[in-house]
Amino acid sequence: MTNTDIILVGFGPTSSVLANLLAPLGWNIKIFEQNSKIYDLPRAVFFDDEVMRIFQKIGLSEDILKYTFKVRGMDLVNQDGLTLSSYEAPTQVGPLGWHAGYMFHQPTLEGQLREKLAQYTNVEIHLEHRVSTVSLVNDKACIGVDGPNGAESYSAKFLIGCCGARSITRSALNVDIRDYGADQQWIVIDIELNGEVDLPLNTVQYCDPNRPSTYIPTPDQTRRFELMLMADENADDILRPEKISELLAKWLNPDQYRIIRSAVYEFHALVVEQWRHDNLFLAGDAAHQMPPFLGQGMCSGIKDAANLAWKLDFVLREFASDELLNTYEAERKPYVEKVIESDLWLSKMIQTTDRELAIQRDQYLFKLPPSERKLEPPTIKLGGPAFDKESVCGLPTPQPITQGGIKHDELLGKNLTLIGEVLISEDLQKLIDSSLITLLNKPNEEMQEWLNEHHARAILIRPDRYIQAIVNYPNDLEKALSELSITY
Ligand SMILES: Cc1cc2nc3c(=O)[nH]c(=O)nc-3n(C[C@H](O)[C@H](O)[C@H](O)COP(=O)(O)OP(=O)(O)OC[C@H]3O[C@@H](n4cnc5c(N)ncnc54)[C@H](O)[C@@H]3O)c2cc1C
Repeated sequence: MTNTDIILVGFGPTSSVLANLLAPLGWNIKIFEQNSKIYDLPRAVFFDDEVMRIFQKIGLSEDILKYTFKVRGMDLVNQDGLTLSSYEAPTQVGPLGWHAGYMFHQPTLEGQLREKLAQYTNVEIHLEHRVSTVSLVNDKACIGVDGPNGAESYSAKFLIGCCGARSITRSALNVDIRDYGADQQWIVIDIELNGEVDLPLNTVQYCDPNRPSTYIPTPDQTRRFELMLMADENADDILRPEKISELLAKWLNPDQYRIIRSAVYEFHALVVEQWRHDNLFLAGDAAHQMPPFLGQGMCSGIKDAANLAWKLDFVLREFASDELLNTYEAERKPYVEKVIESDLWLSKMIQTTDRELAIQRDQYLFKLPPSERKLEPPTIKLGGPAFDKESVCGLPTPQPITQGGIKHDELLGKNLTLIGEVLISEDLQKLIDSSLITLLNKPNEEMQEWLNEHHARAILIRPDRYIQAIVNYPNDLEKALSELSITY
């Protein structure tokens, strides 16, 4: 049996990001993917500023930017075309140092992540290798794999199941699943326009009880349409080209576009109850699934990867005890549950097929002042006992652009960073010397302003760019390090 540091099951976006975060840290990684090529059916088209910041950390944001455009906004309209509610994306870069969101093409992005990974000699990618068993033997994560050369087996210190909605790792862990009961079929159609056509610049959610649907502007001449299947419809019938032309006739004539791809998906809202079993972890769609209305499915998987990567590194490096790995589920599960709740609220607005209810919904919304009909992406904090409700801890650190035009993350250390003026005790000096903490005791103007505004002498930032603690007194640092199970 071949042994390694980390096994990743599946090679979708969650796994590619996790590998790209772990590879530069030197760990030996083996990735097993059943398919030979990147999945090419229509899936994610939007990611947010936090995800772009993770790409920045990987060193890919500038390349990814070339194939994306800034999100403009989203309108919810009723069956008469009247706007019920809307979101207008700010035109300026936001507090995380990036625009609020970007529209993109998932296979292109996955290709870029794979290309970046190819530069690391410590990462082995096994395509066309289906993982058939996952188990724990004497503290080691073990897998059985069926590949072109027959059956093989591998083991690792840690295994992360990033194997999507039908996860083999999840089945092996035999976990409980919380199902929100939101199963619904939709047809998803990607087209390429043949020429200039007057279509909306924003995403539009048509909250039409006769046929809830979504229009999404995507890069270049491509556009996305998503239409809900009604009670008497089935996947085989609705995927016929004649039927697709009929569905799109509300927007386009058949001579105005070419169908790139189409698929019927059943959307679900699910969260796995246990994300960790000893040295086995679940991440991405293997741990949670949600309808795509908020565009957070892939984003959530990538945020899982960013949360878990540095914790695995700290434990492997013996900076922290194994306890740190329990914070992964404690922080990410409540976060994802809140994302799903917001998504389900939006799903309910969009997917109503009861005409009476739709009228009541419209009347209620039209009575509200315009300011209350504005949609804003929810601000969600990490879960877990370390982060109390009122504080900024558990939220992403702001990323100001310095006067010299540098994005602030570029100044942070590779492990923990303490920003602000603090007393350097003997213990802190030891942690600085061991490179666990980088001290930036002369914050730049923008960061100092933020610290003053939050009455913070200093803040402790984690490698995933979240604020772990406000440090006003030496005890605050001690407490934060103990919450992270740091050994020193
Ligand atoms: C129509 C639609 C629109 C969406 N829009 C958005 C959006 O705008 N924004 C957003 O953030 N998200 C969106 N999503 C969700 C997003 O596409 C998924 O959440 C994301 O792809 C999940 O990534 P993952 O890496 O966790 O899993 P996957 O992408 O499913 O990757 C899992 C991989 O594991 C492999 N695998 C599975 N089992 C095995 C095995 N036994 N052995 C080896 N390999 C295995 C699979 O082949 C696959 O390659 C959308 C989804 C859909 C369907």
